[in-house]
Amino acid sequence: MHISIAIDGPAGAGKSTIASIVASKFDLVYINTGSMYRAITLIAMRNKISHTDVKSVCELAKSLKIRFKGENIIVNDEDVSIDTRSINVTNAVSNYASIPELREILVRLQRDISNEYDVVMDGRDIGTVVLKDADIKFFLTADIRERARRRFQEFKEKGINVEYNKILNDIIKRDYIDSHRKLSPLKKAQDAIEIDSSRLDINEVVDMMSKYIMDYIKSN
Ligand code: C5P
Repeated sequence: MHISIAIDGPAGAGKSTIASIVASKFDLVYINTGSMYRAITLIAMRNKISHTDVKSVCELAKSLKIRFKGENIIVNDEDVSIDTRSINVTNAVSNYASIPELREILVRLQRDISNEYDVVMDGRDIGTVVLKDADIKFFLTADIRERARRRFQEFKEKGINVEYNKILNDIIKRDYIDSHRKLSPLKKAQDAIEIDSSRLDINEVVDMMSKYIMDYIKSN
C-alpha cells in the first residue's frame, strides 16, 4: 500500500518536529518542503540574486541538485541544513517562495519524491496543491503568540539572542506573505483535519495524528 500524508500550517506551528516523529513511527520518508525553498533562497542570496530577478532565480534552481539525507538538506554536495535556518534566510524566503515559476520547479520535484516513496510532507500548499490526493491531510495551527514563544525558546536554547517581539513580528510578516500570494497560498485544504496545538504538547499532537493514520491503514 502506498501512503502519503500532508501536513500544512503557518510558521512555527511545530510541523517539522511532528512530521519527523510521525515519519519514524510509521517508517515514512519525511520531506520538509520549507527547507527546499530555504535552500534556493540561501544560494540565491549567496550569489546576490534578488527575488525580483525571476529568470536568474529559476536558472539557479534548475542548476542545483537538491536531495535529502535523513532530515538534512544537501545542495550539490553541501549540507546546508544549518545555514538555511538563519534569520536572514528566514526573513527572505517568503519573497522567493512567491515566485510562481520557482514553485513549479519545486512542486515537480516534491511530486517525484512522493511517487517513489511513502511520504509525510510538510509545508504550506501540500494538501491543496502538491499532494491534492494525499491519503491523510492535516492542518496544524497554534496561537500566534504561542508560536512566537516556541521560536523564542528554540533560539534561547541554541544561545541565539533575539527579542521576542522581533520574532513575533517576523512570523506575522511571513504568514501574511505566505497566505496572500497569488499562487498556492497557505490555506487549509477542505478535507484536511485541523489540529490546534496551542495547548497540546508534541506527544499529544503525535498521538492525535497517529490515531487517524492507524485508522486509515486498518481500513485500507
Ligand atoms: O516551513 P518553513 O517555515 O521552513 O518554510 C519556510 C518558507 O518557505 C515559508 O515561510 C514559505 O514562504 C515557504 N514555503 C512555501 N511552500 C511550502 C513550504 C514552505 O511557500 N510548501
